[in-house]
This record gives sequence, C-alpha cells and structure tokens, in this order.
Amino acid sequence: MENYICQTCGVQHVASEGPPPSCLICQDERQYIGWGGQQWTTLAEMREAGYRNRIRNVDPGLEAIDTRPRFAIGQRALLVQTPAGNFLWDCISYVDGETVDRINELGGLAGISVSHPHFYGVMIEWSHAFGGVPVHIPAADRQWVVRPDPAIRWYEGTQDVSPGLTLVQCGGHFEGSAVLHWAAGADGQGALLTGDSISVVQDRRYVTFMRSYPNYIPLSAAAIRGILDSLRPYRFDRIYGGWWGSDVRENARAAVERSAERYVRQISG
Ligand SMILES: [Zn+2]
Ligand SMILES: [Zn+2]
Repeated sequence: MENYICQTCGVQHVASEGPPPSCLICQDERQYIGWGGQQWTTLAEMREAGYRNRIRNVDPGLEAIDTRPRFAIGQRALLVQTPAGNFLWDCISYVDGETVDRINELGGLAGISVSHPHFYGVMIEWSHAFGGVPVHIPAADRQWVVRPDPAIRWYEGTQDVSPGLTLVQCGGHFEGSAVLHWAAGADGQGALLTGDSISVVQDRRYVTFMRSYPNYIPLSAAAIRGILDSLRPYRFDRIYGGWWGSDVRENARAAVERSAERYVRQISG
C-alpha cells in the first residue's frame, strides 16, 4: 500500500494498492487534470529524484518553507513561531528528515492548518513526522480530505489554535477557505496568512478573490462581502500570501477593502 501524490495539485491520497484512478481535487472545476493526463508520484520517488525543502526567514518569527525544484502548484508553507509553540500554516508536498531536523532546531511543531484543499500537500505526513500534531480543517471541506487521519480536528467558523493565533473560515474560494490571524505579526500590528483565500496580486497594494485561479472563475459579490465580514473583528496591517514575496507589507486592511470594492464594481457591470 502506498500514499500516492497527485503531480498536478500535489495532494497526497489515502493508501492504495496502485495509483488511484483519478484525483478528486483536480477533477473539480477549480483545478484541472494535467495536460499529460493524471500522473502520480510518492514521497520516496520524490526523495530519490532529488527534491528538497528550502527554509527561509521572512520576518521575525516567520519562516517560509517551499520545495525545490518547484513541485505541483509550488506554494509555500509558513511556520509561525510563538511562545506557545510553532504553527504550520498551509502545507507542501514534501517532507524529509532534514526538514524535520531543521524545524526541530526552530522549536518543533505544535499544530497545522491549511487555507484550502489545493494546499493540503502531504499534511498528514507532516503531522506524523512531529508526533501526530493536530491538523485543523474546516468541517465544510470534509469532502476534499482525500487522506483521512485521526490527527484531523474539524472546526467551524473560527478556532483559536494558540494564544494570538486564530483560524478564520472566510469562505469564497472553497466553502471552508480560511485565513490565519496572527495578532503579534507585523511588529504587533497584526498579520493575516491567507494562501488562496485572499490572493496577493502582482501589484502588491492589492489582493484578489477567485473561485478558480487557473480557470479564472470569479466569485460573487455576496461571497466577497462574506470574506470582508469574517475579517471585521481582526486587526491586521500585513498579509502573507501563498508564494514567496506575495505579501502586502503595510496597510493590508485598506488593500483588502479597496480590492473588494474594485472587484465588486467590475463584476456588477
Ligand atoms: Zn490533483
Ligand atoms: Zn486554490
């Protein structure tokens, strides 16, 4: 039995005798089947092929982790360091002993959560590598969890995972799309870690919100308002997006508000 990893979305599936017939996540209209057809790999094959993780400091108390060479969607995971332990936001498709050693040098890992199914990666491998730490997933996205595991803790709405770290299910991209509010981030002014739930665009004074990024399917005005409403209670000045450098460094709340206004104006005609 083997836990196969889809080469297009990078999500690892429940153990099976041979490669699964298809990837549930890539069959959805928000993703796509790779142009070469459905292809699979495994962690062992990736290790043999020379994949490695790279850990780089972003800001005080925040490390970014991505896989080299780039694999699947190519997102980064973010490690938030707090006095109560480290928390992994979003996940990638690779983990090895070297990564675990390095994270342990940084204080280990107390919990994991992921913005949405495209970034699940090998989250269960990460949990097991650190003694089965909890993986917090919104119950609304239960249907997309293709590798169930006792480490998964379902939540609805919001969830405090550590003092000053709160998961906020803002919806939009997926029903369970979420962001992580880090109260001590941005030198105490607050930060949001957003993945694809709120995506930082090339003009980093703006963000966007989509049902599908690769297939360019927009969201409704009601969905955009839902995202804004869910963020209202939280103070934040910075946004850390899903890729290296995709950050709104300052005035992030204003960036979200003017981006939402521009978006709704365009889709409303
Ligand atoms: Zn896939
Ligand atoms: Zn996505």
